[in-house]
Formats: sequence, structure tokens, C-alpha cells
Amino acid sequence: MIFWHEPGYVVAFTTRVGGVSVAPYASLNLTRGTGDDAANVEENRRLACEDLSLEYGRLAFNRQVHSDTVLRAEAGVRGQAGDGLWTDERGIPLLAMSADCLPIAIVSTGPRRALAVLHAGWRGLADGIIAAGVAALGDGPKAAIVGPAIGPCCYEVGPEVSERFDEDLTVDAKLDLWSAAERRLRAAGVERVEQVNLCTHDHPELFFSHRRDGLARGVQGVIGALA
Ligand SMILES: [Zn+2]
Repeated sequence: MIFWHEPGYVVAFTTRVGGVSVAPYASLNLTRGTGDDAANVEENRRLACEDLSLEYGRLAFNRQVHSDTVLRAEAGVRGQAGDGLWTDERGIPLLAMSADCLPIAIVSTGPRRALAVLHAGWRGLADGIIAAGVAALGDGPKAAIVGPAIGPCCYEVGPEVSERFDEDLTVDAKLDLWSAAERRLRAAGVERVEQVNLCTHDHPELFFSHRRDGLARGVQGVIGALA
């Protein structure tokens, strides 16, 4: 796990290390959507929560559809269509999953705590999921972290994708999703943005990658909760 030490919150990015799934899902795969054994996926989700001292039974996550939809999380509610979740209640762990797309956490740093987690590929980013996630947290100062995702080193895109972003973000037909996310976070009013700066495609020992491995692979993700 890669931890974000943000006072008042528990936020961590999972890796593929430490789970029970076998190849090609080895080992900490968090989705049933790509063919892995359902019982193994449940155990992996439970293990991830346990590592963070969060209650697995209350874990909430979406059925992700590359949208700009950010929903208010309810404890234990899973599978609503959307790509972001937010909460201002203690004791509801939120999960957003990814395997090249961006896992992002946004927190309120003011007196009223609130947290959002997002799954953002180029489409969700271009359609405005970051602005929706920031807006869900209400007024006040905020901080965010952009997690492991396919990097500007590896993310080849066509013109139909690059034209949705600032021109300087595509170099040699490779789009810098990390910086695209950071710009949108800052434009939405997030004062402090941190980057994990790890490319999922370049680190098969640590991360699942859709571009590298195709559909028969697992996903990692970001898990967050109010502390
Ligand atoms: Zn790379």
C-alpha cells in the first residue's frame, strides 16, 4: 500500500501485492468484473480494509462506467453506476478502482471533514469528474492526491483524445494524464495537489495495467475514509 498521510483521514493506494488471487489476477485484485474468482476478490477487499483498520462490511464502491457521476456513499452500498463517491461521515470506507486510469482522493482540509475518491480515465477527466468531485465536498480549503496511473511515458492516444486536453499535455502522441488531472484539480480550487508519480504500465510487479495486460487482469485502487 502507498499511504497518503493527511490528518483526519485514512487514504491509501493499493498495489497488486498481498492478496489471494492467482495469475493473471495475482494477487490483490479488487474487481470481479474481469473474470477473477468472486470469493478471492471478496477476500482481497477484506484484506485491504483490514490493513487500514477499516470495516469491510461498510465498504462502498461503484459500478464504474467512465462517467462524471459522483455519488454520496452509503455504508455497504456497492454497484451503483458512477465513478466517484464522497462522504462526510466517519466509518464508511470508499473504494475507487483503476488499472491505468487515475485513482484520485480529494479531502476537505477545513473544519468540516469530507472526502471523495474518483476513478478517472481520459473520458471522465474531459467530461468533468474532477470538478464534480470537488463540488461534492462543498466550500472550504481542499487537498488532493493523484495516484498510480499510466504515465506520460506510456499513454499513447489518438487525436480524438488529445484534442480534449491542453495542447502541451500531449508530446509525441503521449498524453500526460497526471498533469491533466492536476490542472483540473487546481482549476476547481484545490490548493494543494500531490502526485504519486508511478506509472502502472512500467511496474508489473506493483500494478495491474490494462494497456499492458489486456482485459484478463486485476485492478488496484484508492481506499479512503474519515479517520
Ligand atoms: Zn510509463
